[in-house]
Amino acid sequence: MATYNTDVAVIGAGTAGLAAEHHARQAGATTLLIDPAFAGTTCATVGCMPSKLLIAAADAAHGARKARDLGVMAEPRVDGRAVLKRVRRLRDDFVRGVRQSIDALPEGTCLKACARFEASGVLVLDTGDRVEARAVVIATGAGPALPKPYEAVKDHLLTNETIFELEDLPESLGVIGAGPLGLELAQAMHRLGVRVKVFDAGDRLAGLPPRASEALHRVLTKAFLIRLGCKPEPSERNAGVALTWEGGEACFDKLLVAAGRPPNLSGLDLEKAGLELDEYGTPRFDPGTMQCGDAPIFIAGDANHDRPVLHEASDEGTVAGRNAAAWPDLRRTARKVPLSIAFTRPEGAVIGSIPDGPGHVCGKVDYGDQGRAKVEGRVQGLAHIYARASDGRLVGAALCAPGGEHLAHLLAWAIQCEMTASDMLGLPFYHPVLEEGLKTALRDVCRQAGLARPWQRNDDPLPGSDGGVPEG
Ligand SMILES: Cc1cc2nc3c(=O)[nH]c(=O)nc-3n(C[C@H](O)[C@H](O)[C@H](O)COP(=O)(O)OP(=O)(O)OC[C@H]3O[C@@H](n4cnc5c(N)ncnc54)[C@H](O)[C@@H]3O)c2cc1C
Repeated sequence: MATYNTDVAVIGAGTAGLAAEHHARQAGATTLLIDPAFAGTTCATVGCMPSKLLIAAADAAHGARKARDLGVMAEPRVDGRAVLKRVRRLRDDFVRGVRQSIDALPEGTCLKACARFEASGVLVLDTGDRVEARAVVIATGAGPALPKPYEAVKDHLLTNETIFELEDLPESLGVIGAGPLGLELAQAMHRLGVRVKVFDAGDRLAGLPPRASEALHRVLTKAFLIRLGCKPEPSERNAGVALTWEGGEACFDKLLVAAGRPPNLSGLDLEKAGLELDEYGTPRFDPGTMQCGDAPIFIAGDANHDRPVLHEASDEGTVAGRNAAAWPDLRRTARKVPLSIAFTRPEGAVIGSIPDGPGHVCGKVDYGDQGRAKVEGRVQGLAHIYARASDGRLVGAALCAPGGEHLAHLLAWAIQCEMTASDMLGLPFYHPVLEEGLKTALRDVCRQAGLARPWQRNDDPLPGSDGGVPEG
């Protein structure tokens, strides 16, 4: 049994943990990175990357099928084995890249073990070794929830950790959970020819605000059944699984459980670290420093369940690592504008904050009537842009729109740059592009807030210069 001494111990070698270790070391600290597998990040192995690879195949199938609407006759034949083989092949390339960066860490940095707290700065490993650290970063990520009724049908279940290992596509798939992960995979599977039905106990899709959720619901339910406010009962049936709900029943080859991803904290013995926990058992922490209470303990990434997306895991790991190295001399970091995207088609996104009280206006555009969307045969969805009524300063947006992943970035950047609707209208918009739809919503903001549009502020106004060509 060994006892290791270090300045900063990082628990978990995912995106947040790798960033934390790197930045603690850059700041001059000695570091240890502890992980039971060093298998690669969730993003690369079972998260962002394989899911987008599956969606890319689904887009290809859908594009071929839709081509006939444009007068191009094509009939896709989906080879499920080939689709999944490509997903794994490219996924493995991404994982290899992560592993190479782990292999390149200074010798002695990595400890292959599961860690738990014995005291605030003391960890015990399942190898029997101990680690004593001036500061600890918790970066243990999150894992798929398995609601109790589904334990009885375990053999037929898939999660994000197993679905990409399928040799072939199932004929039918029940999806439990209409959050971003459940819907992305449900739509991809549907487009690849799998019979899909989605169930969710809540009333929203993909974590979107009501209007954007309804817009996405309208689009997706044209393709497959989505039952909200529904907790179906699972049971074994023949070689598959049956789901029963009030007034209905359906049988599936497989069930994908995408019912949330609670933080991996249960095995950490957090009570021994003396941390104050919230009602879900997550340490209370300061999002500006990532510090838990006033302890020399920091928490980053999905483990804190605050903003469970990749770029935030990386940012939080950076802040946690730097501050762990500098403890007790902490630096606060301003957080970026919240941005989350569901890669459904059309994409759903929430940017910044969605105000629901007075003092704000909401500019709207209907992507069911947008020029470029018509050209592409993608006339679906909407974008709502929120701004302060007093000066038109942008605060948030919700959308469900073709090209939504790109529109969401533009809006996030504008909000972070503290732009007003008329500032944004003063920027160039090419024609004809999906971005032009945002002009309609921005003008709506200006109109409601009684703000001048850019050309109205100019000394030498050029009427029409903010529109030029009608965007349709
Ligand atoms: C299917 C899916 C699709 C996604 N798509 C997107 C997307 O498109 N865009 C996006 O931004 N985000 C996406 N995400 C979310 C994103 O992947 C996560 O936010 C991010 O990977 C979290 O990184 P992390 O470092 O917190 O956790 P992880 O990468 O999960 O790392 C946690 C590490 O901690 C280790 N660990 C756990 N317990 C212990 C312990 N006791 N001791 C030692 N080590 C331990 C684990 O082995 C693991 O290596 C997706 C997630 C999923 C599941």
